[in-house]
Amino acid sequence: MESNEKVVVLGAGPAGYSAALYAARAELNPLVLTGLQPGGQAALTHTIENYPGFPEGVGGSELGDLFQKQAERFGARMEYDSVTAVDFSKKPFKINTYAREIMAESVIIATGASPVKLNVPGEDTLLGKGVSYCATCDGWFFKEKRVAVVGGGDSALEEALFLTRYASEVTIIHRRDAFRAGALLQKRMHENTKIKLVLDSVVKEIRGSGKVESLLVSNVKTGQDSVLETDGIFIFIGHTPNNDLYKGQLEMDERGFIKVDSKMHTSVAGVYAAGEAADSDFKQVITSAGMGAAAAIEAGRFLSE
Ligand code: NAP
Repeated sequence: MESNEKVVVLGAGPAGYSAALYAARAELNPLVLTGLQPGGQAALTHTIENYPGFPEGVGGSELGDLFQKQAERFGARMEYDSVTAVDFSKKPFKINTYAREIMAESVIIATGASPVKLNVPGEDTLLGKGVSYCATCDGWFFKEKRVAVVGGGDSALEEALFLTRYASEVTIIHRRDAFRAGALLQKRMHENTKIKLVLDSVVKEIRGSGKVESLLVSNVKTGQDSVLETDGIFIFIGHTPNNDLYKGQLEMDERGFIKVDSKMHTSVAGVYAAGEAADSDFKQVITSAGMGAAAAIEAGRFLSE
């Protein structure tokens, strides 16, 4: 089944939902292809404390639901399918999903980013058996168990703090002795007696038969290896944009982020990008939402020209 759309939004995280809301209110009747993870990465966060309007914080998945409802209230249509191919070489643009082909006059890319892997032995084989990239999803399985968290950014510290609700001990393994995370999270980390730090260290191997049992950790300053016994490892070492589908069709930077100007225009007129697909700096729910809104406003202007 083929359809002709004015605006198709690819992805349903904060950027995609905000684009859908603005496009719907501009009566552009947007179609949103949600992908596999409606709500995006934000929906995997237990509590979001820095999105304005929620002084007590808001659950990540709850915020995603609210975004979706608000966009739908103005007529945005959600289709629970993923993009498999795009053709931006001629207009209308062609989008293939698992189910069908869609022709679109304009496209807003908001397909976000995915966690970076450590790429060490044991990471793939023990995935779901103690290796995780989502504390909100898997933290509960580690009640009164020991877990390790890898990384020194906001995600690592926020998720480590969340894991202290369940785990008996949370060991943060970070490759430096200074943290990238914000001051408030660092303060909370230092105050939490369940959190132990292993600094200047990297994980070389994840070991266990059938489930995670220990980590081979190496101190980058002394070169000394040691074994840390643990029941789980949560990896938060950054994200990589989900832009493989657009390679060769849109200009990207050397790290694979889609190049956009201040109005979210990509290198193809009528194609916009918002959120972590195009943002290597801020990566906040609010900045992604703002980029989505801007992209939709620009798509509306493009369509009326
Ligand atoms: P990030 O800020 O890029 O931090 C990644 C961390 O992983 C860094 O500490 C980095 O070490 C470490 N790392 C990277 N590659 C590694 C490797 N191969 N082995 C070991 N360690 C490695 O990523 P993030 O924490 O996911 O945050 C991404 C963005 O989202 C940031 O802009 C952040 O502010 C934002 N965020 C905000 C909040 C919040 O506001 N509450 C929550 C989550 C995320 P180095 O420090 O040595 O580079």
